[in-house]
Amino acid sequence: MAQSAVPSAAQPRESAAEPRPVPLRLPVREVLPWAVFAVVLGAVLIYFVGAEQGATSLFGGTWVHEFTHDGRHLLGFPCH
Ligand SMILES: [Zn+2]
Repeated sequence: MAQSAVPSAAQPRESAAEPRPVPLRLPVREVLPWAVFAVVLGAVLIYFVGAEQGATSLFGGTWVHEFTHDGRHLLGFPCH
């Protein structure tokens, strides 16, 4: 009997016995607080790396600016 690449109706289908992948469920109500937290944390980090200096400075002195100085240059924010 010659074999063909296309299964015929007479041949049993082995794929029916294979387990099907279960779709992943992502409940939005459980993910949303973490997504908001990540966005707020990212905004705070971007602020301290990119804008914590001069007139917009929240803390006195230059220690925050110096602490994030390499990150500022790495991300391309204007510095000096
Ligand atoms: Zn600099």
